[in-house]
Amino acid sequence: MSITEKLWLSLKAAPFMALGEGFWYFVFAGLVWLAFDVLLWRRLTHRRIAGKMHQWRQMRWELLYSLRSLLVFGLMGGVVVFAARMGWTQVYLRIEKYGWPWFFLSMGLMILLHDAYFYWTHRWMHEWRLIRRIHLTHHQTTNPSPWAAYAFSVPEAVVQAGIAPLVLVLIPSHPAAFSLFMIWQITFNVLGHCGYEIWPGWFLDSWCGRFLNTPTHHAMHHESSRANFGLYFNVWDRLMGTNHARYHERFLEVTRPSV
Ligand SMILES: [Zn+2]
Ligand SMILES: [Zn+2]
Repeated sequence: MSITEKLWLSLKAAPFMALGEGFWYFVFAGLVWLAFDVLLWRRLTHRRIAGKMHQWRQMRWELLYSLRSLLVFGLMGGVVVFAARMGWTQVYLRIEKYGWPWFFLSMGLMILLHDAYFYWTHRWMHEWRLIRRIHLTHHQTTNPSPWAAYAFSVPEAVVQAGIAPLVLVLIPSHPAAFSLFMIWQITFNVLGHCGYEIWPGWFLDSWCGRFLNTPTHHAMHHESSRANFGLYFNVWDRLMGTNHARYHERFLEVTRPSV
């Protein structure tokens, strides 16, 4: 196959990539929004982290910015398909090549790599010169809704999409393992922006809560911008001393039983 044919096929794949990512975005953001903001909002009033409901106007722009990011993700998907066809990635199609243990291990590595990539690119985007140019779109509200999961400026969407080529170049990846990783990332991302604390009050004192980030953790990042840069795990924030000083206290306030 000539390079032109490979380029053409990759370009044709881009809309399907955007549609695939858009499908999971709408499924998870829609389900979480429906559950928390429509069906359970009365019962979960005491669990609302910012203490107020999401506004329609705000959700509309979060949705529009996310749709624009999906176009960028689609284009990045096309670039990845092209790189795979050129043999520049470690994508493999037959599971027997590395076996099932590697299939699951590779997903764990993708998650760890994404966690580090997100923390450091996120901190970089918070540098005073860059935040206005790149990251401010995502920080337009201190009370984001699940629809804000992909609400990025175009340059930030490119940075966020950069994890895909990085994973596929560094880690031998089966497309199904990569797809499951993508489903994990959008689920976690949507929950991080849901506006409600989903974990019980004892969670942060459990071994799991010491490592896993919570919706309160990311909600506090939207409020203060100076702390809580992590994504999935509370490891980088802890190592670098960037956890919000009131994180534990705030989590306990939000999860306190209602009276
Ligand atoms: Zn956010
Ligand atoms: Zn930020």
